[in-house]
Amino acid sequence: MTMVRTLIHILHDCYIAPQVTLPYVTHMDKKLHIVGGGMAGSEAAWQAAQMGVDVVIHEMRPKVETFAHQSGNFAEMVCSNSFRSDDDEQNAVGLLHWEMRAADGLIMSTAQNHRLPAGGALAVDRDLFAQDVTAKLKSLPNVSVSYEEITELPDDGQWIFATGPLTSAALGAAIQQETGAERLAFFDAIAPIVYADSIDMSKAWMQSRYDKGETEDERKAYLNCPMTKEQYEAFIDALMAAEKTEFHEGETAGYFDGCLPIEVMAERGRETLRFGPMKPVGLTNAHNPDDKPYAVVQLRRDNALGTLFNIVGFQTKMKYGAQVDVFKTIPGLEDANFARLGGIHRNTFLNSPTLLDSQMRLKSRPHVRFAGQVTGVEGYVESAAMGFLAGRFAAAEILGHPLPSVPQDSAMGALIHHITGGAEAKTFQPMNVNFGLFRPIEGLKGGRRGRKDRYKAYTDRAKLAWSEWLSASSDLRK
Ligand SMILES: Cc1cc2nc3c(=O)[nH]c(=O)nc-3n(C[C@H](O)[C@H](O)[C@H](O)COP(=O)(O)OP(=O)(O)OC[C@H]3O[C@@H](n4cnc5c(N)ncnc54)[C@H](O)[C@@H]3O)c2cc1C
Repeated sequence: MTMVRTLIHILHDCYIAPQVTLPYVTHMDKKLHIVGGGMAGSEAAWQAAQMGVDVVIHEMRPKVETFAHQSGNFAEMVCSNSFRSDDDEQNAVGLLHWEMRAADGLIMSTAQNHRLPAGGALAVDRDLFAQDVTAKLKSLPNVSVSYEEITELPDDGQWIFATGPLTSAALGAAIQQETGAERLAFFDAIAPIVYADSIDMSKAWMQSRYDKGETEDERKAYLNCPMTKEQYEAFIDALMAAEKTEFHEGETAGYFDGCLPIEVMAERGRETLRFGPMKPVGLTNAHNPDDKPYAVVQLRRDNALGTLFNIVGFQTKMKYGAQVDVFKTIPGLEDANFARLGGIHRNTFLNSPTLLDSQMRLKSRPHVRFAGQVTGVEGYVESAAMGFLAGRFAAAEILGHPLPSVPQDSAMGALIHHITGGAEAKTFQPMNVNFGLFRPIEGLKGGRRGRKDRYKAYTDRAKLAWSEWLSASSDLRK
């Protein structure tokens, strides 16, 4: 214990990532089955194997292909070769890198070995990286690989499903049968998400349409940004002129049934949005009750903390830079800071806040866990992070030493807390890690000016919380 405390104090003072190598336990006869050898499945397998559990990875590639993967390797990066920012003091994804490095994460340590020059980002040689992850996993004596497509949810055993955004159709159908069709989506429709403290409340106000709701909170559930006719016309012009992204080859346009991109709505008629998500009815401008706005952009709370708001109905295929330019023309959002920008992609994901418990187990079949992008996180790093936790949780359960819950103040904890309960279940869409998921720290300056100190305080707090969790959980396994 003294050693553990000393380690925590060292970490507190200088934050050097320790390489915590887990004790290698043998004599295990209970296997952990992991479906999918992508970012999440690979990390989960590594973590569980390092804890001494026998692991079988079931991977359908190369026998069954997806439209995006090119090889049969594990952890293939299907598009960009970047794990994004490596800044662990000012960036939430960089903090997630730090937390995984501190815990012997396979994806991060292998990325480090194949790093390419990319400024502050962690970019890699994607082929060497994926080959190395594959070789490392295959070299472990307690990891075996079965190249097959899994098409059912199993009745027994310990399983992690990490089948990603391109989960095979047969398995998707089996999951839907278990969860109900409406709780497994095949496309995301992501509206931009804004940090609450970057919205100009001298222009915006809180009110639900027609003041609907039983409680004061419900009657003030939406944040409203009013527009004059001129502002609306300029917004529509900017929207139509903005650069858009194309669907990836192989993605279909099946999303059109449920969620039209905002620019497609505008193309159907300049007034369409005013009769759709931007309708100005049932609202009174709290700053100027006599003023009747021509259109209103509504934002809805996106997390229980109230630190994030999504722009209602604003899913879009505009390029990221164009989104920032267009959305900043909305009164009240001129200085908006975006936690994530909008998008529409082929993406299979669960309604995790209703389906998974805090250890990523399917509530209706607790021997089945989900991990990675299919749980409603977004991105290589976040997927690997959720694989990390699922692997450790499952292995700990097999070993009979359940782990303490992950501290909410760490990046890992903020993310898992969001997907398994903190997010609004009704409007749940995939999420990147970002500081809006973190509990605010009292007494720090808000807004743009205080940002640097605020982010440093979040990352300091996270590193300490994560280091304590790592020490406590490796203690339990001894
Ligand atoms: C076209 C596209 C582009 C993307 N671009 C980026 C990007 O640039 N940057 C980024 O950070 N993220 C990107 N993503 C998201 C990216 O896929 C995830 O960030 C990450 O790969 C998810 O990791 P994962 O382990 O959850 O899924 P994956 O890495 O996709 O791994 C899932 C694995 O499960 C296997 N599998 C699926 N179904 C079955 C089954 N029934 N039986 C057995 N095996 C199965 C698949 O073959 C695959 O190997 C993109 C996604 C897509 C679809």
